[in-house]
Amino acid sequence: MNCRHCGTPLTHTFVDLGFAPPSNAYLTEAELSKPEKYYPLKVLVCDQCWLVQTEDYADADELFSADYAYFSSTSTGWLAHAKAYAEQMTQLLGLNADSFVIEVASNDGYLLKNFVEAGIPCLGVEPTASTAEAAEHLGIPVLRKFFSEALGQQLTQQGKQADLIAGNNVYAHVPDNNDFTRGLKAALKPSGTITLEFPHLMRLIEDVQFDTIYHEHFSYLSLSTVSQIFATEDLRVWHVEELPTHGGSLRIFGCHADNARETTDAVRRILQEEAQRGMQTLVPYVEFQPRADRIKNDLLEFLIQQKKAGKTIAAYGAAAKGNTLLNYAGVKPDLLPFVCDAAPAKQNKYMPGSHIAILNPAAIVNEKPDYVLILPWNIVEEVESQLSQELPNTQFVTAVPDLKIT
Ligand SMILES: [Zn+2]
Repeated sequence: MNCRHCGTPLTHTFVDLGFAPPSNAYLTEAELSKPEKYYPLKVLVCDQCWLVQTEDYADADELFSADYAYFSSTSTGWLAHAKAYAEQMTQLLGLNADSFVIEVASNDGYLLKNFVEAGIPCLGVEPTASTAEAAEHLGIPVLRKFFSEALGQQLTQQGKQADLIAGNNVYAHVPDNNDFTRGLKAALKPSGTITLEFPHLMRLIEDVQFDTIYHEHFSYLSLSTVSQIFATEDLRVWHVEELPTHGGSLRIFGCHADNARETTDAVRRILQEEAQRGMQTLVPYVEFQPRADRIKNDLLEFLIQQKKAGKTIAAYGAAAKGNTLLNYAGVKPDLLPFVCDAAPAKQNKYMPGSHIAILNPAAIVNEKPDYVLILPWNIVEEVESQLSQELPNTQFVTAVPDLKIT
């Protein structure tokens, strides 16, 4: 396989997590007795542009099925994040009724509804029918398509170039970064701004967040690599912000390469930090697998010990990262009987691969287990504060970056 960005043959493995089903392929009870599709979950690193990327295996259409279960609006923290972003950008760019905002992967309208409320014209691009429909109910126009160079050109031909193109947690999910970036270039007004948010590879490595690796996530990005991809398409990263979301994300600000805006010190500072951590050498990449394996082994050891001791345990949060962790560790319902999740779309279904039942959070309060394993470590404080009053004798456990019991 060659690098998705620069075409260099890929010869270095970042991490090999074996085989797993798509992390969002939640199963109904009837599907439990049918065969399940597994794909290799192996991530490679390019030794030229340092793009970390999943090995090719299947096309995007198959993974983002029509009933894809994730609705952004189910997370109150994320809604607040989106609202603050809309206010910040409206002020920074002076957006008004004459402006035009495009969001790529607009999901259920969690972000664009803020622009609709402010009277700023906008358009969502979203291939997933169920979430696109939810956005349309909020009065947001949605193009039900994957974003691409062809779509960017089509928007331009229709006079729909944007003052702001936003992409939150989509850039890492596209199989062809180059084509997607050319689409951004095409759909951007000469004075326009692009913002993209994605988990920062530097933080992923630092905190051994191997459970954020799944098939739908094609790339793992550093600022340095994104700057290179932008430069190739005659765009420029002129500013960057570090965000606490998803274990440490970047929000990059892009413009046409010839735009007058000056590149800020924040860009130079993060590029320098990445270089200091050796991210343009093989060292941090080849050291990653043994660190991930230690986490997997510690979790398994803990679950087996509790089982032998007659303790009860349940999990909270049927998130994609939980699926990666449980499938890599080979955890099944004998060690972890059920997981609770607040999203109704996931309740009464089963985790892909592990076949662990997903229940309403009320189940965890009724069962009062000795331990609750919180799978999405990014919402650990939220979950603990919700459950600790009703479960005074329960201990909370997280597995990443170290097994921690509180
Ligand atoms: Zn490359």
